[in-house]
Amino acid sequence: MSGGRVLRDAPWLSSGPAARVLEVFNGSGEEARVVGGAVRNALLNIPIGDVDIATTALPDEVIRRARAAGIKSVPTGIEHGTVTLVVDSQPFEVTTLREDVETFGRKAKVAFGRDWVRDAQRRDFTINGLSVSADGTVHDHVGGLDDIAAGRVRFIGDPDQRIAEDYLRILRFFRMHAAFGAGEPDRDGVLACIRGRPGLASLSAERVRMETLKLLVAEGAPTAIIAMEDGGLLLALFGGVAYRGPFKAMVAAERMLGLKADPIRRLGALGVAVTEDAKRLAIRLRLTNGETKALDSMGHRWWRLAGMDEPTARRRLYRLGEVRYRDRLLLAWARAGGDSDPAPWRELATLPERWSAPKFPLKAADFKARGIAEGPALGHVLTIAEDAWLAADFPLEQSALAAIADQSAARFTRDHRL
Ligand code: ATP
Ligand code: MG
Repeated sequence: MSGGRVLRDAPWLSSGPAARVLEVFNGSGEEARVVGGAVRNALLNIPIGDVDIATTALPDEVIRRARAAGIKSVPTGIEHGTVTLVVDSQPFEVTTLREDVETFGRKAKVAFGRDWVRDAQRRDFTINGLSVSADGTVHDHVGGLDDIAAGRVRFIGDPDQRIAEDYLRILRFFRMHAAFGAGEPDRDGVLACIRGRPGLASLSAERVRMETLKLLVAEGAPTAIIAMEDGGLLLALFGGVAYRGPFKAMVAAERMLGLKADPIRRLGALGVAVTEDAKRLAIRLRLTNGETKALDSMGHRWWRLAGMDEPTARRRLYRLGEVRYRDRLLLAWARAGGDSDPAPWRELATLPERWSAPKFPLKAADFKARGIAEGPALGHVLTIAEDAWLAADFPLEQSALAAIADQSAARFTRDHRL
């Protein structure tokens, strides 16, 4: 299984900061390799994210060698043997080789080791179990190369056991398949995920959030979502209904508009029909405040955005701002059903590209000049005037603005006469 393949034309490996880090830990009885996602992506010819490095050197030795080489090190996860090195302001996680230690109970413990095979075996999927040396030699101890070529995401070892060690692997299985797999997800893997379903409840919301948001924006997310829904996994994760039709429609709408995949917008399509759904998801996934507000805004009476005429759309855009307007509109579109004509939706969704709302031109001074007293009365009359300005379709001519100011002041005075 091992060897054979050499990674060529990989400047990120042969020169630059990653090469420098590898050099520090290769030699004098120690070895270092790039592991995990970077190797996988390089072999798939897709952009490399973080470059993670594994080494036989123990953490103290990692810190010592970094210092000797003048490289900054931060003990970011020292209890699991991880030290982060920063070279040219690029961070590298350097982790001492680990292996699962057999325990009589269920959970495998990890210990430091010097064995590359066992380090590969404790990783989750074969495509994530590859490592590469500084000279480009690819080491495959788990059958990852064949699976990369076939677009197959397979657990390393017995899927049931691997899932029981860490239930997050259920989510990672579908995420990795959505990002790197071809066709249907591996049957043995899917069945083991379904059997492991009750374990999802034990995961922390933070870990579920991270994997879920990555899963939702992966290339093959619609197919993965169908498989997860069929396995009852989404109900277990979300604690409520998952709407896979709208999810698929959202992905299609984003593509039609040339928008970048947005995890929260996609989560809205998958899980939100009413604002209660947004509140539940925010708790289940421990979303950030910003994410929670965005999701909640999407769910807020989105149905009123269907079939708007252009002046109404302009008012909504003014009130909501570009991002909230577009996200809510896309939810309305995604929930409109597959056979609705895309043309009018597209028209509404692209309104922010054709028109941006002017600033409301009337000021407090305009109303003080019309005899309105300082204080809450001013705020109130400004609201009345702003509504009137919107209803008149954002006029900017002085005469129109003066008329709106006169009428608003008169109306306020009439309504608030003692
Ligand atoms: P990404 O592109 O999302 O960063 P990645 O494969 O690098 O993908 P990470 O979460 O950064 O994913 O993990 C790095 C590596 O650590 C993985 O490739 C895998 O080998 C291993 N790994 C991560 N999480 C787990 C896990 N829960 N169980 C076993 N191995 C894991
Ligand atoms: Mg990574």
